[in-house]
Amino acid sequence: MDVVVDLSGRHVIPPLAEAHNHDLQNAFLAGRIAPGYLASGIFYSGQMGANPEDIRPFRSFLGTPGSVDVMYVEALISASDGHPLGMALDSYKAAGMEAKPEDIRDQAYWAVDSLADLDARWDRIAKAKPALVKVMLIDSANYAANRRNPALFGRNGMDPALVPEIAKRTHAIGARLVAHAETADDFAKAVAGGADIIAHLPGYKIGRGKAAADYRLSDVSIAGAAKQRVTIITTTAISRFALEKSPKLAPVIRGNYVDNIRRLRAAGVKIVFGSDDVGGSVVGEIESVDRLNVIPRNELLRIATQDSARVLFPDRAIGTFVEGAEASLVALEGNPLEDLSALRRPRLAIKQGELLARR
Ligand SMILES: [Zn+2]
Repeated sequence: MDVVVDLSGRHVIPPLAEAHNHDLQNAFLAGRIAPGYLASGIFYSGQMGANPEDIRPFRSFLGTPGSVDVMYVEALISASDGHPLGMALDSYKAAGMEAKPEDIRDQAYWAVDSLADLDARWDRIAKAKPALVKVMLIDSANYAANRRNPALFGRNGMDPALVPEIAKRTHAIGARLVAHAETADDFAKAVAGGADIIAHLPGYKIGRGKAAADYRLSDVSIAGAAKQRVTIITTTAISRFALEKSPKLAPVIRGNYVDNIRRLRAAGVKIVFGSDDVGGSVVGEIESVDRLNVIPRNELLRIATQDSARVLFPDRAIGTFVEGAEASLVALEGNPLEDLSALRRPRLAIKQGELLARR
């Protein structure tokens, strides 16, 4: 039986996409957070650092017409003393448990310091058939010195010299390479190394001993990103953590964002929206980028509904209402071109032809 849905008085958009989060990477979070995605009009999510073991029990419940579609990073590569080791040790400690680095290495992430380490692990990485592989670049310019600093144990990035080989192997198994990048130098090394997606636009914090200039992307790296069709995920909303600690950084962080985004756009580099905010969502990210006043509203909405979805699922006909596309839409109360807060008022949604029940 056909059903007539009355959309009069509503503004209809393709569903939103969250290109960078971590809120569906374990059963506890996924159970609590997944339903809220669809209720918020967000149908697609990129989870940028999952462990295949953690997501196996529940991932088949996702990706249906009644649930959010998720693209997972399933192979995270970092140094043996690299991020996320420190974070994982901290969370065990906070839970009153004792964990050793050996319990986390090659479990929560792949610990790779050398080509020999990569060789020893690559077969296992490839066997899991990841669609996205991720490398951690953190202050690459000072990689060697940082690894000798005990204060940075567990918080380092990996050897940037290994990125080109990892990119080559990643592409050979039909996967795409995501790079975590914090500084402008990390960004440049990610581009030069062959990353397909850069998970952060540098500048969401100003690291210890760093200045604004350390986060200003070089023209050469921007040109390289354009030429190699690298996609950049914004994650500007998480700058609020740096700003809570030091509010006086606001003009510096904003100035960097405006300058970097302006030059990325002028060069034709693809920018998509992701929040990296486990307590928030991509709607906060869209609002954060809008406040920078550097992307026109119509383009902002196209990125939010089309480009961000397609970078996660490049083979699907989504983010559009043309004939043959997936029948997914969100009907808003209010016109987001005039009032962006309309994105926070989804009134009706259809996913892959199925009308979603109001919650
Ligand atoms: Zn992240």
